[in-house]
Amino acid sequence: MNEVPVEIFAIGTELVIGRIADTNSQWLSSRIAELGGEVRRITILADDLEQIVGAFKDSLTRGTRLLLVSGGLGPTPDDLTIEAVARVLGCAVEVDEATLQDYIRRRNLSGRDQLTPGLMKMATVPAGAEVCPNPAGWAPCTICRAGDATIIVLPGPPREMEAVFQMHVAERVAALSGHKSAALRVVVNMFESEVSPLLQEVMGRYPGTYLKAYVAMREAFEHGLPLDVVATGADATAANDLLQQAVTMLSELVTARGKKMEYYNPE
Ligand code: ATP
Repeated sequence: MNEVPVEIFAIGTELVIGRIADTNSQWLSSRIAELGGEVRRITILADDLEQIVGAFKDSLTRGTRLLLVSGGLGPTPDDLTIEAVARVLGCAVEVDEATLQDYIRRRNLSGRDQLTPGLMKMATVPAGAEVCPNPAGWAPCTICRAGDATIIVLPGPPREMEAVFQMHVAERVAALSGHKSAALRVVVNMFESEVSPLLQEVMGRYPGTYLKAYVAMREAFEHGLPLDVVATGADATAANDLLQQAVTMLSELVTARGKKMEYYNPE
């Protein structure tokens, strides 16, 4: 299978000091897994140019094919992601004309001279980057090539990051990747120690599956222990077929021990 090593970076001092939880990386990693990319590492970084540049360079050295970065695209001086990407690529930064025109239109401005320094900063991208408009905010998504790798920078606000990802990034990840994944959550009325050997048995019988029980989430579930079954296949159909086989085997193993397995429906 064609593995696409992916690393995710969340940029923002508020994240490393624990004021805001890094929900972007969790959301992105679950989407990447569905789309068949292989997330190898998630890094949270402060708004520090040297640290950001160093982290991107190290990631490229590890052979990462896709670096997905969120945050640090705002109008203020501590927003450094674009500068960091330009440093890594060894290129200049430039103002993207199409983005400026878009701002003029959306703000109903009479011309360029009415654009604030903040808007000019948010329209600034690494020279030669592909620039994709942000349907839910101002800072656009930028896509740059770095040798064999691609660096994609997404806005930090979760709603914007998700909208930009769906619109401009998801298809690219799917196209890069040679496989897809499918997942299902179920709940069993068993202890972790009882169910663990069954999970190992299913993973042993069906390579390409990953089963994981969540003890820490037990209180939130009335009927017992929640667990995920994840399956990877050559395409979505293969992933779903494998998922069904793995879930069926798990259900049979659970029932054979006089216990119950229920599908978890979040609605
Ligand atoms: P802007 O400054 O234009 O809002 P930005 O791309 O610079 O956009 P940040 O300044 O980094 O983004 O963050 C904007 C908002 O999004 C803040 O409220 C921030 O806490 C939140 N945010 C940023 N990164 C994350 C993340 N990884 N997970 C959850 N929230 C985040």
